[in-house]
Amino acid sequence: MSEIKLVLEEPKGRKRPPSHFADLEPQARRALITEIGLPAFRANQIANHLFNHYNDDPASWSDFPASARSLVVERVLPKLLTLVRSITCDGGQTRKDLWRLHDGVLVESVLMRYPDRTTVCISSQAGCGMNCPFCATGQAGLTRNLSAGEITAQVIAAARACANGELPGGPTRLSNVVFMGMGEPLANYNAVLQSIRNIVTPQPDGLGISARAVTLSTVGLVTGIERLIEEGIPVTLAVSLHTPDDELRDTLVPINSRWKVKEVLGAADKYADRTGRRYSIEYALIRDVNDQKWRADLLGKLLRNRHAHVNLIPLNPTPGSKWTASRREDEREFVRTLESYGVPVTVRDTRGREIEGACGQLAAAETLKVPSSDN
Ligand code: SAH
Repeated sequence: MSEIKLVLEEPKGRKRPPSHFADLEPQARRALITEIGLPAFRANQIANHLFNHYNDDPASWSDFPASARSLVVERVLPKLLTLVRSITCDGGQTRKDLWRLHDGVLVESVLMRYPDRTTVCISSQAGCGMNCPFCATGQAGLTRNLSAGEITAQVIAAARACANGELPGGPTRLSNVVFMGMGEPLANYNAVLQSIRNIVTPQPDGLGISARAVTLSTVGLVTGIERLIEEGIPVTLAVSLHTPDDELRDTLVPINSRWKVKEVLGAADKYADRTGRRYSIEYALIRDVNDQKWRADLLGKLLRNRHAHVNLIPLNPTPGSKWTASRREDEREFVRTLESYGVPVTVRDTRGREIEGACGQLAAAETLKVPSSDN
């Protein structure tokens, strides 16, 4: 039997990122503020600057005592992300940001403006341990989990860019967040959950983005999905299925060796029942691998009575990959077949392709080797 390397726990011995305001629940934030000798109401001011004004630089806070600002930087709001570079495409409507973390580790986020919404795609881990063979991040392996502060900081940076009018079209509001960058969010459960709380909690204690506008995409860690159900936060769940049959899925999404298609869909059904939210099935169409008509039939039969929507993603081949995207006619046939079962289906746009910012292409270490093309 071939050895499939799956990493569910982060490697030991890495220095934790400095602790941050956004790692904590509102009550614990107030406790921390009093612990460092400031009145508790200062926590509300900090929250207001951070989540309402996207301002994480205490030096610029005129309502905050100058003498306390450096203490806050040191103990409460350490700088977690340093921008290495931004690359844009799609006429500036897509922007990929490369971030350096406190320990030199690199992660990426992608901001995408559409006529009706602006979405940020964020990373939850540096690298990923799920080892899906078609995914650039998966090939890099897992370096470490991100903290809630590091995950939230990506969203705050995106919200700030929107508010400042950094994307063409003028100032706008960040409306959507997708956990579809680097990493498997449910393998970093606690930090991801705290960051979701930061995203959906109304201002000033959080960013006030609607839970339904937040999508968590997972390879299908069933225990994680079950835990998420109990939290009662109706974020949109996306399951990276990529094929309806266990035999192929064992190789495309190696976690399938632990939880089979039926179990994953069972957990997603439970999620839909409890949250009232339709879930999404991610399916990267790979030429002659998972795009056959018979697989579309099987998928259609599997999903026809479920509360699911299929999101087909034309494969973005990773460097050196033996796989490529499906032929247009096969893609169309796949869509038609699913529709014939009454299964709602959309084909994902391929925003960010030219800047290696499209689905599955995020691999920060690679990006560094590319000569800078900032604009
Ligand atoms: N670990 C999570 C989230 C990260 S990836 C997950 O797997 O769901 C977000 C989506 O992009 C997943 O559906 C993933 O399977 C898909 N993806 C990864 N590599 C891709 C590639 N090369 N082309 C198209 N989609 C890809």
